[in-house]
Amino acid sequence: MTTTIGVLALQGDVAEHLHILEGLGVTAAPVRHAHELDGLDGLIIPGGESTTIGKLLTLFELMAPLKSRIVDGMGVFGTCAGAILLASQATHHDGRPADQPLLGAMDITVRRNAFGRQVDSFEADLDVRGVDGGPLRAVFIRAPAIERAGEGVEVLARVGDEAAGDSIVVCRQGRLLASAFHPELAGDPRLHQLFLEMLRVT
Ligand code: GLN
Repeated sequence: MTTTIGVLALQGDVAEHLHILEGLGVTAAPVRHAHELDGLDGLIIPGGESTTIGKLLTLFELMAPLKSRIVDGMGVFGTCAGAILLASQATHHDGRPADQPLLGAMDITVRRNAFGRQVDSFEADLDVRGVDGGPLRAVFIRAPAIERAGEGVEVLARVGDEAAGDSIVVCRQGRLLASAFHPELAGDPRLHQLFLEMLRVT
């Protein structure tokens, strides 16, 4: 059976994610309505503004169906704002709790805009556990950091930041994968590939 992966198409680099998925030989489809979640093996939640995506999820009546599909075992790859949405807790960059709709599917606390104003955007070469073939080029745009990962969460990559120290930037919990950066922007499909492998083996 072919694998079908949806890309949440409310905001963000939807076309880039679809393109990478198609290049990896799976069926890829944009998702805007709850019925489009039916039959998906996995879903990518792209970057953007997590507050906006959260509000749109509520407006498009996707929040509850998405939560129940995750409970049923659908895999989700949340990138940047998508990682924030997967989290059980989010804070602002100064540590104040962020009051915004979240899926709460991963036992992680994510700090929004963690890398500060001066380095709003930066790139780094990251060693990612489970990704072979050398470091992965990672593009961070007003990126969050995963500042707490619960017991069931496997840390796959960290990035060093002079001001803030080491931050977790890729982690996994079962069939859920979160990256603080934008894997669709560097022309490297290996993190998407890892997500597909996660769906096959678990
Ligand atoms: N700063 C955004 C947020 O907090 C995330 C940025 C991104 O997805 N590139 O939601």
